Amino acid sequence: MDPYLAGAYLTIDLGAIVANYKYLAAQSQTAECAAVVKADAYGLGMEKVATALAKAGCRRFFVALPAEGLTLRRLLPDVSINVLNGLMPGAEALYLSERLTPVLNSYEEIVKWAELCRARGPHPSMLHLETGIHRLGLQQSDIEKINRDLGALDGLEVTYLMSHLACADIEDHTKNQAQLDEFERLKAMLPDALSHLPCSVANSSAIFLGPEFQMDLMRPGIALYGGNPVPKLKNPMQPVARLQGKILQVHDVDREMTVGYGATHRMIENGRIATVSVGYADGYLRSLGNTGFCGIGEFRVPVVGRVSMDMITIDVTAIPQELSQRGSLVDLIGGSVDLDEIAKKAGTISYEMLTSLGSRYNRHYEEAEN
Ligand SMILES: *Cc1c(COP(=O)(O)O)cnc(C)c1O
Repeated sequence: MDPYLAGAYLTIDLGAIVANYKYLAAQSQTAECAAVVKADAYGLGMEKVATALAKAGCRRFFVALPAEGLTLRRLLPDVSINVLNGLMPGAEALYLSERLTPVLNSYEEIVKWAELCRARGPHPSMLHLETGIHRLGLQQSDIEKINRDLGALDGLEVTYLMSHLACADIEDHTKNQAQLDEFERLKAMLPDALSHLPCSVANSSAIFLGPEFQMDLMRPGIALYGGNPVPKLKNPMQPVARLQGKILQVHDVDREMTVGYGATHRMIENGRIATVSVGYADGYLRSLGNTGFCGIGEFRVPVVGRVSMDMITIDVTAIPQELSQRGSLVDLIGGSVDLDEIAKKAGTISYEMLTSLGSRYNRHYEEAEN
């Protein structure tokens, strides 16, 4: 969308994504570093992001859905594309024709994939062991079924055993070690051919839990996009996304008045209210009403009143007029507005802020230098 047609600018720094990838990869001497680009690379645009990462040397990508895998395959003919949500019914043939690697999450999926590979030739898969998050993955009962009928595995090619942690962002949570122990226990129950494969459990946060979590393959998502993988410490990642809204109008307040739907904010003193052209339809979460803040230069200004569909109102009383007039830009995410901090204000996490970003922006990509 042309800049003058849009209410807000979204700038995505591909150089920062590449720098973040290199920083994460450098956390291990031995593990390979993949990139998770599901949900349109966390809202930042899978095509641009994956292309930049592939140029920077990333050879393995994770998506959630076969549809995402298909889009990525059109773009990157040679990389490994792994589908986290498993072998989805009806899409099996597509995994083979597009060379998508399913993350097999159940006994049924394993049997189905082995059958297909016997008929159409081998193709890699990953096995997901369920170790404590209870979303997807093989449980002990699945492994028992496998062991009862090893013939069903004929033709199966597995590249990695993987699992996913529930509490990796809480460094000292006992569940982290408990999940590693469960991973080892389940692994030991697998038939010989499968129990010595390379392993992967680390999302962004788990990369910072040490080598026993990094294993052979790391799978960061949010940290690539600037989210803080170590919430208790200063964010080691470079910011990636900057969202700036335009001031549409400024109101001088010279008598008591209320602002926005529901009349939830009352101006008592004289002051100035600016209306900014971004709203919940753009992913500026409604929970930020009367709670959020924006940045204008070095200044921080409060969101006052409710977030509307296409607008927010901010109190610019304390800001120099030349910085807060019609057409001035206001930082909503990035600049002086930290992604994790504003997400917290919204009652959510950086992941949801980014994946909520809307389509009515003027999007601009700063290219990475390679
Ligand atoms: C989304 C996801 C990741 C990436 O997680 P981040 O916390 O964003 O680093 C890794 N592994 C699995 C299985 C996922 O679903």
